[in-house]
Amino acid sequence: MRFDILSVFPDMVKPALSESMIGRAVDKGILDIRLHNIRDYTKDKHRRTDDTPYGGGWGMVMTCQPIMDCHRAVVGEDKDVLTVYMSPGGKVLTQKMAMKLAKQKRIIILCGHYEGIDQRVIDSIVDEEISIGDYVLTGGELPAAVLVDCVSRLIPGVLPDDECHEDESIESGLLEYPQYTKPAEYEGMKVPDVLLSGHHANIVKWRRRKAIEKTFLRRKDLIRKKKFDKSEQEFLSELKENQKKK
Ligand code: SAM
Repeated sequence: MRFDILSVFPDMVKPALSESMIGRAVDKGILDIRLHNIRDYTKDKHRRTDDTPYGGGWGMVMTCQPIMDCHRAVVGEDKDVLTVYMSPGGKVLTQKMAMKLAKQKRIIILCGHYEGIDQRVIDSIVDEEISIGDYVLTGGELPAAVLVDCVSRLIPGVLPDDECHEDESIESGLLEYPQYTKPAEYEGMKVPDVLLSGHHANIVKWRRRKAIEKTFLRRKDLIRKKKFDKSEQEFLSELKENQKKK
């Protein structure tokens, strides 16, 4: 899968996408991540890429020309490409959206900076506006890295084992059960006996119940959407009773 990231500060994105599993997937050729500096396309004699907003107001707005020329050059002849603008005003990114995006062949990600970009750019080249959450950052570079990371890990071959994400929080519809590793006891804190028992069925059952319990306590919205079998429904009733008693 190919990502093209358009930014006036492309070096902000580079470190986040060149290490660990994403970096290895790039080295293996599973991912093709290209960074483009919008400033390289400006026709302004002072190499400016922003100007004051019409109508007055604080800050600077990124101008049309360098972005549009950069986008045109990056799209090339390719018709099968989706352009995303990272924006606090966009749809908030979810795992479901990431799964849909992972089916694309190519995604161009436009990063805003300052007070954002001229609306005419959005109207003419942007297919989707995506926010990474209800807060405002100084630029779209970190959001772009977040988007590339969460979409990329869904592409076969990027994670070391394709089954790795099956139990993952959110993706499974629940939050993940607690994880432990060696040693079995650390500063008096012990790993639950069941995990040391080697009894696979009991471990699966314990993990499932812990996942349900954690999700019930923290994310009732997820519990409402999820389907449970009879014994899990009984377990949930117990959790509800216990909560009422507190
Ligand atoms: N004036 C803009 C507004 O109110 O919508 C905010 C501009 S913000 C300071 C600068 C840039 O950071 C945006 O153009 C966008 O690319 C990026 N950005 C900031 N917060 C974001 C978020 N939560 N999700 C995605 N991108 C964000």
